[in-house]
Amino acid sequence: MPERVMVVGGGTMGAGIALVAAGAGFDVTIVEPQPGARERAVASFAREAERSGDASPALRIDWADRVEPRDDVVLAIEAVPERFELKCEVFLELEKSLTASAILATNTSSFSVGELAGAASNPARVIGLHFFNPPSRMRLVEVVQAEQTAQEALDRAFEFVERCGKTPVLASDTPGFIVNRVARPYYLQALRALERGVATVPELDALARSAGFRMGPFELMDLIGLDVNLATSESVYQRTEADRLEPAQTQRIMVAEGLLGRKAGQGFYSYANGKAERFEPAAAQVDEQINADEVVAILGFGAHAQELAELIGERYANVQVIANDEMLDELLPESTIIIDAGDGASDRSEIIAALDASFEKECVIIADAYATNLSACAQRMRHGERLVGFGALGSVARQSAVEIVNSEVASDDALELAQELFASIGKGAVLVEDVPGLFLGRTIGSIVNEAMIAVAQDVASPEDVDEAMMLGANYPAGPIAWGREIGGTRVRTILRRLADAEGEQFAPHRSLWLLDVETVPAEETPQ
Ligand code: NAD
Repeated sequence: MPERVMVVGGGTMGAGIALVAAGAGFDVTIVEPQPGARERAVASFAREAERSGDASPALRIDWADRVEPRDDVVLAIEAVPERFELKCEVFLELEKSLTASAILATNTSSFSVGELAGAASNPARVIGLHFFNPPSRMRLVEVVQAEQTAQEALDRAFEFVERCGKTPVLASDTPGFIVNRVARPYYLQALRALERGVATVPELDALARSAGFRMGPFELMDLIGLDVNLATSESVYQRTEADRLEPAQTQRIMVAEGLLGRKAGQGFYSYANGKAERFEPAAAQVDEQINADEVVAILGFGAHAQELAELIGERYANVQVIANDEMLDELLPESTIIIDAGDGASDRSEIIAALDASFEKECVIIADAYATNLSACAQRMRHGERLVGFGALGSVARQSAVEIVNSEVASDDALELAQELFASIGKGAVLVEDVPGLFLGRTIGSIVNEAMIAVAQDVASPEDVDEAMMLGANYPAGPIAWGREIGGTRVRTILRRLADAEGEQFAPHRSLWLLDVETVPAEETPQ
């Protein structure tokens, strides 16, 4: 007998999931009472057939007004609106109508699968199958195992997802599962940065894109809909009761005012005249000529300093690399630019003060702004105007722009020289205010932290967290691999400074040190 999949609810997700299952060769019944929803689904099938050049999957789909008894259904998935009672009713109907061996799945984004399973008389066959929008194109499916879910149901759900050509990752039954939870700081910390005046919306979006995100957090919220995005944040916050995940006031106000993003014509951007204005950091023209005017010294140790030294060494004729603070007296007295990258995690105030004391005031000092409070440092210097802070979080090669601190003390000449230096190695620059973590350190650091918390709380394995964020949220790298590249100690330093300034809820999680050892065990080993 051919195997049949039943999809209850033929809206955005249900129609998409049905087509994916039909594409994998299953016969599919969609239960959808609304003729309008059916029409939209059929139109979407036609568009997909045109895109893929294959009209056959839609032929395997039939329709029903309500759940009716069937003995050929191997798996039923509900994708009705996100209302708890409604989903429970659907499960009861499915139990009454299908054979005892059919898997009952929910596509819920925000409810506990275990609580929904509680509505069924046999909760062992209930599981979460969290598809992403649009199901035809998103490869990830979070397979959510509730406490009651039987191993056999889990195995069969994995097989189903794989047969559909998707990548299943196992997630425990926790608020937001993997993606909706680990992605929260992307929005929340971007909103906090905006509230603190770190830079403008287009500038912050540009910085996020420069770090590899396909869309900046604000343009993405506009696309998703601020109300939809806020509902997810509120739900994850209410269920975790974690202060760090509290939604931002700015977003709550914007939603109350109807500034919902693209669909409302206005969100963080205006869509009144079509597309919103984007900001691109000044295109960095790599000058073919080697700069022989400046004498550049690079102070620092570790991968970060080394990479900077290599990139700068290709564009400047006179480059000195000092990888040890004990050798500061070897710095050439004629240095015109000193870049202090340090070890990426230690406070560099003392070293910067020593440089200030020994070098002519014309020598510009460009220092890593994530680990050190440079504003405080500049206040203590004889020539604070020559100090420019910069932020390049992980691999500089992977970032197309850096953040440069627009401090009140730095002179225009010093700022310009710093921007020129980064432009010479092909990096754009965005001026930001000097707050702990600037923008990228705060945002990406908090994502790494959330990922590590999720692993420590057994939401998923480190590998699955990384895979889920790349496939389900289009992240350029898995947050745990990214955290390893940045360095656990560096992330820790950034978040410690952030927590000191904005509250303990943003403190680094104790497991971050694991990023500096070979592998991150799924279960946290005590320190
Ligand atoms: P939707 O409103 O587009 O579709 C829901 C459909 O269910 C509607 O067509 C409605 O007519 C139908 N329906 C209502 N009551 C029904 C019933 N008793 N029997 C059968 N059909 C019924 O919603 P959606 O965006 O597709 O979301 C569905 C589920 O998927 C929700 O649980 C949501 O949280 C989850 N989800 C949504 C997304 C997304 O991006 N939209 C992503 C992942 C998960």
